[in-house]
Order: sequence, then C-alpha cells, then structure tokens
Amino acid sequence: MQEKGNISIHTENIFPIIKKFLYSDHEIFLRELVSNAVDASQKLKQLSGMGEYNGELGDLKVEVNFDEKAKTITISDKGIGMTADDIKKYINQIAFSGATEFVEKYKDKGDEQQIIGHFGLGFYSAFMVADKVEINSLSHVEGAEPANWICDGSTEFEITEGTRKERGTDIILHINEESEEFLNQARLQGILSKYCKFLPVEIQFGQKDQSVPDGEDKDGKPQYKTVKKDNIINNTTPLWTKSPAELKDEDYLAFYRELYPMSEEPLFWIHLNVDYPFNLTGILYFPKVKNELELQKNKIQLYSRQVFITDEVKDVVPEFLMLLHGVIDSPDIPLNVSRSFLQADGAVKKINTYITKKVADKLAELFKKDRKAFEDKWENIGLFVKYGMLSDEKFYDKAKDFALLQNTDDEFFTFDEYKEKASALQKDKDDNLVYLYATNPAKQHAFIESVKNKSYDVLKFDGPLDSHFIGTLEHKLEKTQLKRVDAETADKLIDKDEKVESVLSDKEKESAKALFEKAINDKNSTVNVESLAADEMPVIVTMPEFMRRMKDMQKQGGGGMMMMGD
Ligand code: ADP
Ligand code: MG
Repeated sequence: MQEKGNISIHTENIFPIIKKFLYSDHEIFLRELVSNAVDASQKLKQLSGMGEYNGELGDLKVEVNFDEKAKTITISDKGIGMTADDIKKYINQIAFSGATEFVEKYKDKGDEQQIIGHFGLGFYSAFMVADKVEINSLSHVEGAEPANWICDGSTEFEITEGTRKERGTDIILHINEESEEFLNQARLQGILSKYCKFLPVEIQFGQKDQSVPDGEDKDGKPQYKTVKKDNIINNTTPLWTKSPAELKDEDYLAFYRELYPMSEEPLFWIHLNVDYPFNLTGILYFPKVKNELELQKNKIQLYSRQVFITDEVKDVVPEFLMLLHGVIDSPDIPLNVSRSFLQADGAVKKINTYITKKVADKLAELFKKDRKAFEDKWENIGLFVKYGMLSDEKFYDKAKDFALLQNTDDEFFTFDEYKEKASALQKDKDDNLVYLYATNPAKQHAFIESVKNKSYDVLKFDGPLDSHFIGTLEHKLEKTQLKRVDAETADKLIDKDEKVESVLSDKEKESAKALFEKAINDKNSTVNVESLAADEMPVIVTMPEFMRRMKDMQKQGGGGMMMMGD
C-alpha cells in the first residue's frame, strides 16, 4: 500500500513552540522588532529610489520607548507600514516572510539588497516577553486606511480600523509578568547597544543628558549646562561598510576604540571585502599581546547586514584567528532561525579558507614592504603566526616564507636564510642540519657562549608557544634536527674534524667526572669533560634530549598542547 499526502500543522500546537523555544534568548525580541522597523524604513527608501513611492521620506528614525506603569514597550517606525490585508498576509501567516517576498520581487531592480528579515518568524518572538501584542499601522500606499491588530498569544486575533495618522507602524508589547526585567532603562539600553549598535537606520531610545558649553562666568571660567538630547544608540555607517580607499589609519584606530574602549592600540588590521563567491565585509585587528594569558578568544563580532548575531565565531573563523579582534559581516553565513548557531557547511568553510588566505597575504605584504617593522613587531605577530602554523597546514605553507627565527643575538632569519646560515657549519655526519636553541637564554648562557665560541649559532625559543613550535619545525623541516643547547655538547652533535686539545689530562678528567657525578647524584644527567679548550668551561653537565623532554612534560602535568584546547 502506498499513500501520499500533506503533513498538517495545528497552529494551536505549533504556536507555543515558536513562542517559547525557537529563540533560546528572550532578549532578542528587541533585535527582531527593531530589525523589522529598520527593514520597513529601508524598503520605503528603496521604493522611493525606484520611483514607486512619491511621498516625502522625511526623517526615518526608529523609536523605542517603554512605560513602566503601563508595562509596555513600543517600537515605532515611519517605514512602509501595513494595510489590514498586509497584516493578514505577513503577520497572520507564520513563516511567510514579507522580507523574502520583497527581495524576490525587486531583486532585478539594481540597488544592493539591504533587507534583514528572512524567515518570517521574527515577529512572533514578541510573544516570548508579551502576553498581548498590538500593531498600529498606516501603509505608505496612497489612500490606505490605518489598521489595528491585536493578539493575546492565542491563535485568535482581531483586526479593527486603526487610528494611526502618520505613515509607519507602532508595535506595542504588553509585557508579561515574567519579563518585567525588560521594563528597565539600563536593560533596554544594554540590549540595543549589543544588537543594534550598527544598524543602518537611526534608532532613538528616549533622551539623554548632555553637558554643553554655556558662556563664561565673571572670572572668565567656562560654564556648562545640561540639555536633553535624543539618545541615538547606533552608528549607521560603521567603518567596515566603507571603502578602504577612503579610510585613514586614524579611522581604523578610532573604530577599534569604539569596539574595545579599554584596549591598547592594535598592531595592524585587515579590511575584508569580498562579493564573490560569497558576500563578506569586515575588519580584523591584530591585538597587541605578549603572552598566552592575554590571548582572548571570541573577541570577533559576527554581524549579518549590520545586525549583531554573536561573538561565538567558531566555525566561521579558523581556530587560530579567533585570537584576532574586529567584526565580520556576512549575509551569506547560514544562520538557523535563532541566528546564534552556525552550521559548519560549505559556505562557512569557504569563508574560513578565505580569511586564512587574506591574513597570510597581509602578513606576507607587511614583511615584504617593511621587513624592519615586521621584525620589530615579531614578538606580537609571531604568537599568531606560530599558532597558525601549528594548527593549520595551509597556513604553514604560506607562512613559511615570512615566519622568522630569532637567534640569541636578536638577529632575524627566514627559514631559508637560516638554512643557508646553518649549512656552512652546523651539519652532522649524516649531512643533517643541526639547529641549536635556547629556551631560557639567561639560564643557558654558559652553554650558549660555549657553542658560540665554536662559531655555532643559537636560536631563541623562549616564547609561550615555542616548545610546540619546535616540534612542528622538526616535523616539517627536511633533514634538520633541533637540539637544545644544553642537551648534549655541540661537539657530539656536530661532526667536526679538528678536535680541540683539552686543558685537562685524562686523569684529571676522570676525577673531575667522578666528583661532579657524585655531587649531582642524578642518573639522568651525564657529566662530560672531554674536548674542552682553555676558553671554555672545564665541565658541562648535560641530559639526553629525550630525557629532558620527558622531564619538561612531567613538569607541565603530562604535557599536551594546552593552548590548542580541544
Ligand atoms: P521577516 O522579517 O523574516 O520577514 P518577521 O516575522 O520578522 O519575518 O516579519 C514578518 C513580516 O511582517 C515582514 O516580512 C514584514 O512584511 C511584516 N512586518 C513586520 N514588522 C513590520 C513593520 N514594522 N513595518 C512593516 N512591515 C512589517
Ligand atoms: Mg523580521
């Protein structure tokens, strides 16, 4: 038997689900309703631009107000408005998006789309915080009658003749008992600042006091008075929406301060701007950090058409670049209806790859343009570059041309340059390159001096990620070994023809060895008194490389890459 049919939905069952569970975070009702108000204003501008609306646009400011006594929050706009029929079509049909319809209808008519809505569900988030919602609207269409809609959250609604005289819409929420926290100035201001700070239409939330100059007193001292000013909560043209060509360094620094008021200046930034094969704009800043404790993830803010979505950018931004700061705005990042969970699908992977490439290109460009400046910033940049090289193969392949190695004389080398330098002297008998390194130059000073006297070079690996980085280099660099400078004597590692005469006789060596072994009393260490010239330390105590690493790991509590945190 075979039967086909349509699945039916009982609205009285689906409604509570939409109301309560679709959005985990109740505060986003305000983001959804303000987005709708912004959409209504943007649509009107667009219609006007296309000659389909001939009335005055006027001031399209969106207003948010609340009344603690009446327990209402009102969102008002002067956008396209709705007739009773529009309300029936767009509001009464759940999951029918008037935004999508509008975009479809006008998609061939030039102008880039600026409409936020998409799923046709946002409006109903109002019922998470309100037990009654009213719409008062007057459509922009000539001769339209105002309409009033009221719904108490059941599946029944009431439409009556409206009272609104001006084009636009008021959404009035009668806040329910559990949600009275939202009837609060600071709470609403906080939500608006979080989600609506960069929306493209001005949003006013009441008024605020502002101190302005008010002449001078008789001693010539400047006087101030307090005046009421509209409290506009957003910057309608955030920096990332502008063209890089018209921006100066100072603009980028000022925007950084706007995003992170208390932070130190960033090192540099990357302005992202793609429109194919996906849309993405944004600015990524490299913060100034010197150690891993200062590294903070989730400082990048993700926007979709200037609406804040989340600062959980995992999946969109490669793991190692989550340490950067800034904003990314993309209407193409697939968001589920709650918009707070990103799926790791194809588009996201492409974005991820693109960002990695952009960052690598920028670093390569900085290195080429001004190597000295790049070296000066290496202490900071190096942290990101090394993290990237450790965690991302593709990034390693790009970064190996500009990643720097620093020696104990604070000279910098690219991988190729260092290979060249080491090839002259530091080879073992199997023709492998041997790189010597110090993890604590102050403590290992004696060992460093000793090998430098043999004209060997010592790299400085004393940074927070360096112990992991050494492992990566050993794995990646062909025919190259990395040895810690105090692990074993350089003579043993690097096959040299001439043996230097020791200042000690064989007998003296024997007794020195016994004496030191007794004093150290550690079976993992080896006392070595061979082949030492007069200008060196007479005795060196070493530990085999693997023993040392074992010890290090024990110290770290089992080792592992704590930073990579999986
Ligand atoms: P979406 O915004 O995803 O389309 P919503 O549930 O948020 O879905 O809104 C449904 C529709 O109701 C909108 O597409 C729009 O047509 C209409 N609408 C909602 N709010 C307003 C408003 N303030 N002014 C005009 N139309 C609105
Ligand atoms: Mg919407």
